[in-house]
Amino acid sequence: MPQLSIWEKESFFVPQDVIIIGSGFVGLWSALHIKLLNPSYKITILEKGIIPTGASTRNAGFSCFGSPSELLHDATTMGEDKMWQLVAMRYKGLMEIQKYFTSGEIGYDANGGFECFSRLSPDWEECQQKLGWLNAGMEKLTGIPNTFAVADEKLLKWVLTVWII
Ligand SMILES: Cc1cc2nc3c(=O)[nH]c(=O)nc-3n(C[C@H](O)[C@H](O)[C@H](O)COP(=O)(O)OP(=O)(O)OC[C@H]3O[C@@H](n4cnc5c(N)ncnc54)[C@H](O)[C@@H]3O)c2cc1C
Repeated sequence: MPQLSIWEKESFFVPQDVIIIGSGFVGLWSALHIKLLNPSYKITILEKGIIPTGASTRNAGFSCFGSPSELLHDATTMGEDKMWQLVAMRYKGLMEIQKYFTSGEIGYDANGGFECFSRLSPDWEECQQKLGWLNAGMEKLTGIPNTFAVADEKLLKWVLTVWII
């Protein structure tokens, strides 16, 4: 080991209270919350890349808690209770982000989102049948009624837009 400078000793090699591996969203939010709970803690975040190289810098940027078909798929694979727990965590996470950043700072626009189905798709049948159940569950979590709705009228506009483009 080469001899260390005083700066290296006092920065890189000083004993840490917490070491977080990975500087994606989870690592950075964890560091922030640990620091808020324990302001005196020394925290180091280790990142294997020169820049973060995981999903957080590659995602599409949608702030979503799950589309109808995604939630129904999750309910089938993980069970209804776990699916709602996951939705609640996602929703709480989105609210949390807004405590720290203004919409302008993070370019947040509450535009809603759309899922497109073919009329022949079994997913469409299921989503249509269970829309009321999904909305009731969402309202329990958010207090907002009718989170999801059928929006057939948008299709014509989108088809025309695609044709014009
Ligand atoms: C293509 C794509 C699109 C997505 N779109 C959306 C979206 O629109 N909306 C949405 O909400 N979510 C989206 N997601 C999901 C979301 O981006 C991830 O759930 C989230 O970024 C995960 O964060 P993370 O911190 O757990 O992981 P990551 O962001 O992957 O962070 C892990 C970090 O750990 C580092 N690391 C790994 N191993 C080591 C090691 N051994 N030592 C040191 N560092 C290490 C990696 O380099 C990386 O920087 C998308 C994901 C992908 C891949």
